[in-house]
Amino acid sequence: MSAGWVRACALVAMGLFSALALGKDRQPTAIVIGGGMSGLTAAYELQEKGWQVTLLESRPSIGGRSGLANTEWIGSPRLQPSLHHYLDEFKLKTVDAPDYVRTPGYLIDGHYFSEDDLQKQSPQVAEGLKRFDKTLDDLAASISDPLKPLASTTLKSLDAISAKRWLDKLALPPVSRALVDQRIRSRYDEPSRLSLLYLAQQARVYRGLPDADMRAARLPGGSQVLAQAFAGKLKTVKTGARVSAIVQEKDKATVKVGPTGYSADYVVLTVPLAALDKIAMTPALTPLQQRSLKDINYGWRDQMLLKFKKPVWGKTRLSGEVYSDQGLGMLWAEPALKGGANLLINLSGDNARLMQAFGDKQLVDQVLIRFDRLYPGAREFFNGYELRRYGKDPMFGGSYLAYGPGEISLYWRMWEKPLGRVIFAGEHTDALYPGTLEGALRSGERAANQAQTLLAGKPVEPVDEQVASATPAPATPAKAGEPAEKGFFSRLFN
Ligand SMILES: Cc1cc2nc3c(=O)[nH]c(=O)nc-3n(C[C@H](O)[C@H](O)[C@H](O)COP(=O)(O)OP(=O)(O)OC[C@H]3O[C@@H](n4cnc5c(N)ncnc54)[C@H](O)[C@@H]3O)c2cc1C
Repeated sequence: MSAGWVRACALVAMGLFSALALGKDRQPTAIVIGGGMSGLTAAYELQEKGWQVTLLESRPSIGGRSGLANTEWIGSPRLQPSLHHYLDEFKLKTVDAPDYVRTPGYLIDGHYFSEDDLQKQSPQVAEGLKRFDKTLDDLAASISDPLKPLASTTLKSLDAISAKRWLDKLALPPVSRALVDQRIRSRYDEPSRLSLLYLAQQARVYRGLPDADMRAARLPGGSQVLAQAFAGKLKTVKTGARVSAIVQEKDKATVKVGPTGYSADYVVLTVPLAALDKIAMTPALTPLQQRSLKDINYGWRDQMLLKFKKPVWGKTRLSGEVYSDQGLGMLWAEPALKGGANLLINLSGDNARLMQAFGDKQLVDQVLIRFDRLYPGAREFFNGYELRRYGKDPMFGGSYLAYGPGEISLYWRMWEKPLGRVIFAGEHTDALYPGTLEGALRSGERAANQAQTLLAGKPVEPVDEQVASATPAPATPAKAGEPAEKGFFSRLFN
């Protein structure tokens, strides 16, 4: 048994002992650190269970990494059950997405193509995209349970390979490859930084669900509206409260904000890993947890809203998610609430990393120059911008978790285990839907349930569950400990 695990057991035992010692009539208390979607959910659920909760958020306002968009795409209830549960609970209405945004679009050499257009006008590019989708689907099908992506030696070996290495072997036509790269870096990170097993596991989670389920509706006002609805229900929310230390003692945990100490029975810690690295923990995190703070890969996404006096893209339908082969990332026209025309541009992966030395205005200029080449005159009608740079922000350390090669093997479901009185949440702790609102909400629900379990003096077990995916079982299930299936690798790379 490792020293880290013995220490973790001792901490859990300490937590259980103290839970039993907690007077039956006393209201249990919790401190939730982080006012993003996961923290808000954990705080709300604990308060609903009768706990006295204090939520501490370092920024001047709550909401965390919620997007810049005025209105965000919402998946179907089948895809995002937790999100829809809370939208219903707070009576927040969504607006159905029109059909034309439900499938992706492509901007090739400045010309817009829907998937149907591509099939008719550029069948070779369309065939390349289909081949990518089919091969990835075959890989996804080899994972019988997305909660157990390391179930066989064959699957484990996928974790050692980058998505780029696999794509190179697929030898797609260059334009198809540029568009596939853009899709992967927009959703996760650069293919060279991404574990192939992670790409396949995520494809397994969403396997069988049509694209239309991904962008089924919009939430007017975006996820900030949901964040405010949560906050409106919470009794104690302190903003501008940056936590610097957490000290666990026999019967309580104390959280430091400047000179002030807040004590409670349990702490729910929801900050991204880069922010967690800046919090002094006593006792310390396990060595593996400490290593992961600097190691686990996060994607990189800069999101900018360009405002124009009129839609300089004319009648081109830049709706849904549009992938560019010319360095404009993923973009879409965004409803402009105060007149004019807005375009949301997402620069991701190494394209965005390359721009990190640029100041905000220089970055926007670079994008405008490219956009003006596609739609001449665009700069003339440019009217301002809003910009969020998640990669450069030391408190986020990137956009969201995107496992790199070898990282699933090392860190799988590590952050679901409480450490004594500290319970972890946040999108990065969700095994099925990391990097999404759904994952953040689910992690907050899980953390609240774990706190309740610990309070009752019971040990916390990992929860196995069904995924929303419409496809129940894969064609060729992989068994634990099996040697690599005959021909698996040649099929993988052909
Ligand atoms: C550019 C971008 C686009 C996205 N688009 C989508 C999308 O279309 N659909 C979708 O479902 N998801 C999307 N996501 C993902 C989604 O926004 C996140 O998964 C979710 O918001 C994460 O919530 P969280 O609570 O885990 O983390 P966060 O939102 O990061 O919350 C953590 C909070 O902790 C606070 N904090 C940090 N350190 C401290 C400290 N020491 N003391 C106190 N507070 C602290 C932070 O300020 C932050 O508010 C996107 C994310 C990004 C970055």
